[in-house]
This record gives sequence, C-alpha cells and structure tokens, in this order.
Amino acid sequence: MTEVQTYPTIDEAARAMARGAAYMGGGTIVMREVNAGTAAPVLVRTDDPTLRQLRAQGDTVSLGAGVTMAQILAEPQLDFLHPVARRVGGPQVRNMGTVGGNLFAAHPYGDFAVALLALGARVQLAGTSGARPVEDVLRDRARQVGLVAAIEVPRPRHGSFGFTKVSRVKPKGVSILSIAVLAPQTGGTLRGVRVALGGMGSGPLRSAAVERALDGQRLDRTTLEKAQSVASDGLQPPTDALASAWYRSEVVGVHLRRLLQSMESS
Ligand SMILES: Cc1cc2nc3c(=O)[nH]c(=O)nc-3n(C[C@H](O)[C@H](O)[C@H](O)COP(=O)(O)OP(=O)(O)OC[C@H]3O[C@@H](n4cnc5c(N)ncnc54)[C@H](O)[C@@H]3O)c2cc1C
Repeated sequence: MTEVQTYPTIDEAARAMARGAAYMGGGTIVMREVNAGTAAPVLVRTDDPTLRQLRAQGDTVSLGAGVTMAQILAEPQLDFLHPVARRVGGPQVRNMGTVGGNLFAAHPYGDFAVALLALGARVQLAGTSGARPVEDVLRDRARQVGLVAAIEVPRPRHGSFGFTKVSRVKPKGVSILSIAVLAPQTGGTLRGVRVALGGMGSGPLRSAAVERALDGQRLDRTTLEKAQSVASDGLQPPTDALASAWYRSEVVGVHLRRLLQSMESS
C-alpha cells in the first residue's frame, strides 16, 4: 500500500523526502512502480507553481523540474531542445513526463538527461544555495540527492548542439543509444566540446575519448574518422532485450559521425 502526500511548497515536499519519502513528478515511471507494488511506501508531490516555471530567454534558460516535455515543445525559444523532447515517448508520456524525472530515469530511459549532460546544465536542489553540475546529480542519483527544483541550461550557439537517438521502433521507441554533442567552433576550430552518450553504460555518461579527438581540431574528414574510431573506447554498454553490448559498441561511432556531419552542414 502506497500513501501519497501532497504539499503546497517545494520546501515542505523536500523536508518530507528528507524523512524518507520518495518524490513523484509526472509519475510516468513511479505509477508503474505503484501498480507493480514496488513503489516506496510514501510518495510526495507538490503543487508549488514554481516547479512548472520556465524561463526561455537569455544565455541561460531555466527549467523548473516539473516542466514537461510538452511544455518544452510549446516554447519556440527552446527550439534547441525540441529534437530531444520530441523523442521522449509518445504524446501521453510527453504530456506528463518531466525534466526532473528524466534525470532519475534508469536505462533505457533518460534521453533528456543525456542532452542536459552535453549542454553542461546545472541543477538546483530544494533547500540548498547554488547549483550543482548535472554530472554530480547523475553520479549520485542512486542515493537520495533530494528534490530537484530547477535546471539551468546554457543556451548553445546556433548550430553547435546536436542530438540523435537510435531506436528500433520509430518515432517513439526507447533508446538503443542516444548521443548529444556540444561542439562550439571558434575560427573553424572546435573548442569546449562535450559529448554525452546514453545506452553505453549504466546511465548517461561523457565520452572523454571522443571529446579529446574533437577538441582543438577542425571538423574535417580526419577528425570525423578519429571520433568514430574511439567512440566506444573505455565503455561497457549493457546487453538487454533491445541490443547487445557488441552491437552498441559497433554502431555508436557510425551514429556519432553522422550526427557530427549533420552539424557540420547546418
Ligand atoms: C511508455 C513509456 C515510454 C517512455 N519513453 C521514454 C523515452 O523515449 N525516453 C525517455 O527518456 N524516457 C521515456 N520514458 C520514461 C519517462 O516517461 C521519462 O523519463 C520522464 O521524463 C520521467 O519523468 P516523470 O516526471 O514522469 O518521472 P516520475 O515517474 O515522476 O519519477 C521518476 C523518478 O524520478 C524521481 N523524480 C522525479 N522528479 C523529481 C524531482 N524533481 N526531484 C527528485 N527526484 C525526482 C522520482 O522519485 C522517480 O525516482 C517512457 C515511459 C513510458 C511509460
């Protein structure tokens, strides 16, 4: 039996979590756990409107953790996130599924978290000052990190961000793998590259090998070949019902190269 407690403010919900309750956002994952009888005994939620707030202007956009994929798709100024939000589930899932929940969604979910990782997003936790790098939250998410209040996302320069998702069922199948790349260029040279992968480990991760292959280079054929050849270096992708570890390692470089080529020509 699961009890659901609803609080009027984020802070009260966060305090309830500190006492051991689990949080429910849009519930697209949690409600399945409730139905399966595996959910935490106490779930908390909040009607606090700040959780649904979205600031889309400026160099850094701010997404309340309760912002849904559908809200993102309805905001023209968040167009750089549209290719990502559009690939999360079908319409019903996008109407309910939140950006906060996506940070905690286990493989094969978490496509939006992969994009946030490449974009260098920062996460604000309720009751704390300052924001933490999203990689810290992804690393610690199996432990209780607290209630995510909002996510700050640096707006990428036009054409410098790309996302692709590989799935068996289109358009709304879950990921075999997903790839997000931030590749800003200064005078034709790549600087500050961030490459994030989903489906290539237990959760979203950055590929140090690909970042090294790209950073400081021109996006030419030699660089593309190098990036492709090191794409699975040091990674241990899972084998599951969607694909084997071997398959993921074989194709990740091909899809990475295609994504980089599409950005080169955008
Ligand atoms: C049919 C179907 C298809 C799907 N397809 C995709 C897909 O293609 N890609 C994809 O990435 N995901 C997919 N999902 C998974 C899920 O819908 C998304 O990941 C969604 O973004 C999760 O958000 P939510 O608000 O519903 O999370 P919830 O179910 O509410 O919560 C999920 C987890 O996150 C925690 N959580 C939620 N919000 C917060 C917060 N603010 N602070 C701290 N912890 C929090 C919860 O405690 C829970 O552990 C799919 C799900 C279904 C049912």
